[in-house]
Amino acid sequence: MVRTLAKIGIYVACLFGYASHAHGQGSGANTVPPFPAKRYAPGEVIVKLKSSSSAMAQSFRGKAVSQKGFDVKAHWEGLGLMHMQAKAGASVEATVEDLRRDPDVEFAEPNYIFEKANVDSGQGINPLTVAQTAAISQSANQAFSGGYLATGAPIAATTAWSILAPSGPQVIVAVIDTGLDLSHPVFTSTNSVWRNLGEVAGNGVDDDGNGYIDDVNGFNFVSHTGAMLDDDGHGTHVAGIVLATTQDIYNPPLADSKIKIMPLKFLDGTGSGRTSDAIEAIYYAVSNGAQVLNNSWGGGSYSASLHQAITFAYQQGVLFVAAAGNSATNNDALPMFPASYDVPNIVSVAATTNSDALAYFSNFGRGTVDMGSPGFDILSTYPGGYFVSMRGTSMATPFVAGLAALIKRERPNVLAYQIKTLITTGGDSVTSLVNKTKMETRLNVHESIVSAKAATIDTTQPPYTFTNRDRNLASGIAGTGCGTVTKMGGGPETWSILLLIALFAVPFAIWTALRRTSGDNRRAHPRYKIDTEVKLNLDGRELIGSISTIGLGGVQLNTNAMLDRGGLVRMSILSPDGQEVVEVEGRVVWSEANKAYGVQFQQARESVLSRIQSWTRGLVKT
Ligand code: CA
Repeated sequence: MVRTLAKIGIYVACLFGYASHAHGQGSGANTVPPFPAKRYAPGEVIVKLKSSSSAMAQSFRGKAVSQKGFDVKAHWEGLGLMHMQAKAGASVEATVEDLRRDPDVEFAEPNYIFEKANVDSGQGINPLTVAQTAAISQSANQAFSGGYLATGAPIAATTAWSILAPSGPQVIVAVIDTGLDLSHPVFTSTNSVWRNLGEVAGNGVDDDGNGYIDDVNGFNFVSHTGAMLDDDGHGTHVAGIVLATTQDIYNPPLADSKIKIMPLKFLDGTGSGRTSDAIEAIYYAVSNGAQVLNNSWGGGSYSASLHQAITFAYQQGVLFVAAAGNSATNNDALPMFPASYDVPNIVSVAATTNSDALAYFSNFGRGTVDMGSPGFDILSTYPGGYFVSMRGTSMATPFVAGLAALIKRERPNVLAYQIKTLITTGGDSVTSLVNKTKMETRLNVHESIVSAKAATIDTTQPPYTFTNRDRNLASGIAGTGCGTVTKMGGGPETWSILLLIALFAVPFAIWTALRRTSGDNRRAHPRYKIDTEVKLNLDGRELIGSISTIGLGGVQLNTNAMLDRGGLVRMSILSPDGQEVVEVEGRVVWSEANKAYGVQFQQARESVLSRIQSWTRGLVKT
């Protein structure tokens, strides 16, 4: 019975635990709040096998290729993960379901798409040349290079530079992003781009045997070549901020850099990238000596394989700095990944303004976002030798990564967990972050370096074990994952579990039934289960939420925003396939715990209702 209860515990935790990708939200592409263009790569899946033996991997691979027609695109033996392409025309959902039934599979999931996390693209903004930037920098001394790094917030970088150790190891910061303009004068004149000394450029040979051909300055996981470029601009901008946290990049001649930037391109020219490429970039970074990983990207999908890759980085003592997201929403309620994984090496960063307000677009979360950092109109490098300003949690994150590199240079044996503590506790307390972030601090470079110099180095980190948090993924209730009761055997233990579930479920069902039939909540139209995003317009303010049921009469809307019963709300609802959006107005008719709301459509246009009706064909009735 004790074992039975333990299993029930797992099951209940799975029901009420971590929000899965079902409540996804997009990260910042171009507007606030944005919808992701697509959720996962067509036909692609990532699989984790239960056993790490190579015999098991061989036999699974053989079965997948010969019997099911999969193409194995990558096998990361260290992580026990396989990236596979299903045969043409196969649906991802069906493929994943099928794989989850395989007794050899620990989990299977779609290859989710993530997005860069800036608010503006940098395009259409007048770029500044190096000379123009220097001239402005000199005339606006204090607000620019005088310790302010092109932000008005006193992050005390220059004062920190004056107390750094005269020499130290060149810490490598991997910028996992859209790439880097290697020829930008800021990077060439500072000699700041990582160079793989074991690799000969352009000879078509993997000289150092690390598995990558011609990876001289990082790697391009989009083209799977060593050709580094930035066809978006985001990665170059982010890399410039990492460097600018460690030295002046605005006033030539520039000093030799104290750190190295390892550009790893996994986001394409539109700022989108696949989980499989992100995992490979993380694995590459850690295996090739990076000690800080900058991740100015994210999305609403929980990926167990990405979670596992970040756990691997933690076990190697590597810090993982992540953008909190730009949807102006609460990550405690609507998690943003990778920022919202609970691996202890993750620093989740919100964006603040020059006056230390929380930026209007920034995500927050007192339980899940660690701290704030400037992310509002930050001037940094842009392809073609230019400088531009951009805003986003993407811009806030690299300040933290740059500071982390300086701490590591100062104290080479410090591990990720302690670096995180030094940065989050070394920041300045700012009132705008109270109840919005865990530490309620905005980054302060000088204070954190002072603390690092005096710190006793911890040689161990708190233990952390990867556990799959997506209840939909695991293939059985036993073990660490969250499965379904259908996988259990038929013995007496099963029946006692079902009985216990029934004891919980019956009162719940009665309560639900009562709640749903009370007041003006009776429905004239059938409702369908759906899992999609919604943009809300409340008095000109834009917010993001999710829709969990839909019908021709209205929706159940989930949001952290407080909605008044009887109030009107304008909604832009994303279709289940992510391909279209309908605009509709509704009235709030019931609310639950200020999180779930019933919204009845008001004068919905015929065209809108016919779109919604077409969506419901593929959905299950509630
Ligand atoms: Ca190589």
